[in-house]
Amino acid sequence: MIDLSKLITERIRDIPGYPKPGVVFKDITPLLADHVTFAGVVDAIVAHHGRGNVDKIVGIEARGFILAAPVAYHFGAGFVPVRKKGKLPARTHEQTYDLEYGTETIEMHTDALRPGERVLIVDDVLATGGTAQAAAELVRRGGGEVVGLSVLIELSFLRGRERLGNLDVHSLVTV
Ligand code: AMP
Repeated sequence: MIDLSKLITERIRDIPGYPKPGVVFKDITPLLADHVTFAGVVDAIVAHHGRGNVDKIVGIEARGFILAAPVAYHFGAGFVPVRKKGKLPARTHEQTYDLEYGTETIEMHTDALRPGERVLIVDDVLATGGTAQAAAELVRRGGGEVVGLSVLIELSFLRGRERLGNLDVHSLVTV
């Protein structure tokens, strides 16, 4: 049997000092280039939540898109992008959150969800949880119900999970 955690761990490349000193960037491009691991990741996310339980998959720019789109396809669910401010063309809700230095603003189209739709949020890395928390808020403001967050990697020392309250946080690998 395939040990998915081992495959994932071996195919994530640590880049110390990128994009700035003090950060160890988790580069998932080697994982994406390996079709067995990429497919295993997508299948594991779908299996965790169960087909039929989700109406829309929200992917967070940019690496979240890569994982969220095939998950949406396998669920038979729609895909909705959450993007950095200024990238979406139609009317948006926007949500601003704090970073270590400064702030970030993300947006979702106001008509992306129908009332009561069940939404799974997908991203590559859960760090402090600020991005996921803001995305969850956008989903609620858009009329959706957040059924969970799936990430490839959880950086547990940054305690993002605690920030997300009772949200179902599913990570494939924790470091
Ligand atoms: P946070 O809001 O602190 O949970 O950060 C999560 C977002 O920032 C995700 O969209 C990630 O893609 C990105 N991110 C944060 N830390 C890292 C890291 N060490 N390596 C790669 N991406 C990261």
